[in-house]
Formats: sequence, structure tokens, C-alpha cells
Amino acid sequence: MIPYWLLSCLLYLSISSPKLSEAKQKATVLITGGGGYIGSHTIAEMLDDKYSVVVIDNLSNCYAFNDTEKPESLKRVEMLTKKKVIFHNTDIRDSSGLNKLFKSYKFAAVIHFAALKSVSESVRKPVEYYENNVAGTNSLIQAMKNNNVKKLIYSSSATVYGSPQYLPLTEKHPTGQNITNPYGKSKYFTEEILKDLSYSDNEWKIILLRYFNPVGAHPSGLIGEDPTDIPNNLMPYLSQVAIGRRNHLDVFGSDYPTPDGTGIRDFIHITDLAIGHLRALEKLTNPAFKGCRAYNLGTGKGYSVLELVKAFERVSGRRINYKLTERRKGDLAIVYADPKLAEKELNWIAKRYIDQMCEDTWRWQRQNPNGYQSDQDEP
Ligand code: NAD
Ligand code: UDP
Repeated sequence: MIPYWLLSCLLYLSISSPKLSEAKQKATVLITGGGGYIGSHTIAEMLDDKYSVVVIDNLSNCYAFNDTEKPESLKRVEMLTKKKVIFHNTDIRDSSGLNKLFKSYKFAAVIHFAALKSVSESVRKPVEYYENNVAGTNSLIQAMKNNNVKKLIYSSSATVYGSPQYLPLTEKHPTGQNITNPYGKSKYFTEEILKDLSYSDNEWKIILLRYFNPVGAHPSGLIGEDPTDIPNNLMPYLSQVAIGRRNHLDVFGSDYPTPDGTGIRDFIHITDLAIGHLRALEKLTNPAFKGCRAYNLGTGKGYSVLELVKAFERVSGRRINYKLTERRKGDLAIVYADPKLAEKELNWIAKRYIDQMCEDTWRWQRQNPNGYQSDQDEP
């Protein structure tokens, strides 16, 4: 029997625009953590835009059939784009592995997604988080320096702003204050290291992309967010309730100073976020760009938890069971971006809004009820 996701791949390829295979190939970029959610979607956009990629991932948070195979997410990206993804099962902390890689390819730049990202796990395992995220980045930049590759895009987060002193959050908002967990601090510490690096040597060109709340999936339904454990984040939890994998959603807090009492976030569609990386790459490779610069990637608009639940019900036609519960420790009431700097300097703006975020998440969830392992689960 042909799996559902393969049928949809064939359908998507038959209706999507023809590839301009004669167009000139662009540079080769090293992608760390490219098997994960944001990396895989960014790679799909990069391949469509004629970049070549070499991906490293240690498979700690993405599904591969075994240790020697590339992650399923990247196999799907290859099907989707009809392009090859070179993959190495390499850890960013493995200096000799990284050095070999830098000697084997000529990288124009590095996009660094690899990190551990669970807030709650980081509270239980701070040392592992600092080791992986901070020491791991140090190891990566050391290898880049040794091999004279000095252009880097770093996956940062709105969490570096801590508790907002004003809204919307601009890039000038102070960072590093009142960050409540080691994950957030690991993002902040890494930003500081990268800033110091750029002050020390003006050949370095670094862009810090501060993501707000990435949600959604590729419109083909072939790639999406695939939590390996019980989801911590709202959207994947919500969609697992909709598909029947979980009984109900706990809404954390209904007494925030917001119109419906639930938290407000700036949800951004994963395709918009992925395209933000293309614009950042263009900026980074422009000879006029210097130093280290941060950009918010958000829509500039906040939606509450209950507004997202209602939108999901509307597009999926499913009722979402939810219970209003206690606030989650460390959560903030309202967080949303001012994305104007990215519009002005990167020529980037988020175009996809809440219904499309829910529609694309739902398509991915329906077609892959158990994520990338769905095929293996079939009898
Ligand atoms: P993800 O877990 O889906 O992807 C990260 C990938 O990195 C995984 O495939 C994992 O196996 C790999 N990885 C982890 N440690 C590694 C190591 N030491 N060596 C090699 N590979 C390693 O996460 P994501 O949602 O795609 O996030 C990507 C980046 O964006 C992370 O840096 C994260 O902190 C940042 N970010 C994510 C969000 C979000 O809500 N998803 C928000 C803000 C920032
Ligand atoms: N949230 C919730 N139930 C969940 C997960 C999250 O009510 O199961 C809420 C959370 O309290 C916050 C919002 O949804 O107000 C977004 O949380 P998420 O973990 O997705 O992202 P965060 O903004 O914390 O990085």
C-alpha cells in the first residue's frame, strides 16, 4: 500500500511550479541541527532557492530509521525539492569531526540551529543545556575560525528579552534580564559570546535571528513539527488533541491581564520563518554588512491561547477539549515582536496568518498522525 504522505508528495509535486533547473546554483551552506523542525523547513526553502546544503545533526531530537541514515525529515525534503541533501551524523561538540567537514567542503556560511530546546528539561538538566548549547556553539565557532569561515546565522529566541519592559519588543529592548530558565540563558549567553567574537575580529559577520513562536508546517503536509516526547509547546499539543492522541489541552493560566485571561504570543508561520533565513543569508553575504546584528522574526501581532484554540477548531472542524489550569511557572503574560527592523534591513515580512498556521499544522498532523514514524507504525 502506498503511504498517504507519499501520495500527497506526488500530488504536491504535480501541482507545484516546475523547477528552474537551468538557473545558476548558489553557495554551499553548512546547516547544524538541520534534521529538526526549523532546520528542515529552512533547507526546503534554500534548496528551492538554489543553495546547496550540507547538514549535520546528532539525531538527538529528530527521527531517523537508524544512526547511519539521514533523518526522515530530510528524506522528505529531498522528495519535495527533488534535490540532494548531504547529511553527516556529527555533533557540534565533536571538534575533529567538524574540522574534517570544513576541510571537505567550501562553505560560504553556517546556519546554526542545533540546540536542546525544552524549557522544562533545561531546569532539570542545566549543565547538559549549557554544555550542548553554549559549549557546542563555542566548538562550532572555533572550527569555523580554524577554517576561515566567518559568516554565521544563529537561531536565537525572543526569550533573551526576559520579561518585557515594553511592547512590542524591539531589538533595542534589554536582553539577559529576568530570564527564568537555563534554556533561555543559554540563548542569551551564546548571543553575548557571538557579539564579543565580532568585536574581536571584524572579519566576522553574524546575524542573530530572534524567533518568536514558530508554528505550522510546509503546505504539502510532508514536513512539520514532530516532537519525540509529550509536546511542551502549545501548537503541537493542540494538534495532538485534535487527532485524538491526547485527551485534552491544559490551558496554563486564565487570569493574565489579557482580554480572555490567557497568555498572548506572536505565532509565526514556519515558512515565513524559513524565508527569513534566506533574507538573512543575502544580508550576510552583502559586502556592506559588518559585525553582529540581531533581528526579530515575528508577525508583530499577538494571539491568545484561546484564540489559537478557536482558530484550530474552525479550520479543522474538530472540537478541542481543554481545561483552564494554573499558570505554568516562568510563563509571561504577553510577548510580541516589533518586526520593522527585519522589514527595513532584510526586506522580510511575515505574510501568513493564524488560519494558515492552523490549516498547515492540521494537514501535517492528519497525514502523519504519528509524525515521521507513521510509516513504520503501519501494519
Ligand atoms: P529541533 O529540536 O526540532 O531541532 C534541533 C536539531 O538539532 C535536532 O534535530 C537535534 O537532533 C539537533 N541537535 C541538538 N543538539 C545537537 C548537537 N549537539 N549536535 C548536532 N545536532 C544537535 O528544534 P527547532 O524547533 O528546529 O529549533 C531550532 C533552533 O531554533 C534551536 O536553536 C532553538 O533553540 C531555536 N528556537 C526554536 C524555537 C521554537 O519554538 N521551535 C523558538 C526560538 C528559538
Ligand atoms: N500553553 C498552554 N498549554 C500548553 C502549552 C502552552 O496553555 O500545553 C500556553 C503557554 O502558557 C503560553 C503559550 O501557550 O502562554 C505558548 O507556549 P509555548 O510553550 O508554545 O511557547 P513559549 O511562548 O512558552 O515559548
